[in-house]
Amino acid sequence: MGFLPFSLRTRVRIQRLPPTCALEGIDLRPYRFVTGQTYDLNPDVARVLLLWEYAVLANGESPDQDGHGRVCAKCGLWAFPVGQSDTPPLIHFHCNHCGHITSQPLT
Ligand SMILES: [Zn+2]
Repeated sequence: MGFLPFSLRTRVRIQRLPPTCALEGIDLRPYRFVTGQTYDLNPDVARVLLLWEYAVLANGESPDQDGHGRVCAKCGLWAFPVGQSDTPPLIHFHCNHCGHITSQPLT
């Protein structure tokens, strides 16, 4: 996936979990947010989370910045570490968006 001039998704990082399961009429339960994780959200949902300071914008952030993710090799969105293997020494990242597993050598 290339870089589109207008993104239909807004990338945010959850700072703290909303205390309720709905905000301004938006049902948050399906998202199963985890503090510190990054999500590509519908802009309407992202706007509410940003407005209430439950999330911060994460656009343009390097996936390697905090060591917790990689760009999915398939769809280009954020993938999270799910485990590693010893032989060969690889670390695996699971993409929540397309389900692809990206493996990289452990350094
Ligand atoms: Zn993906």
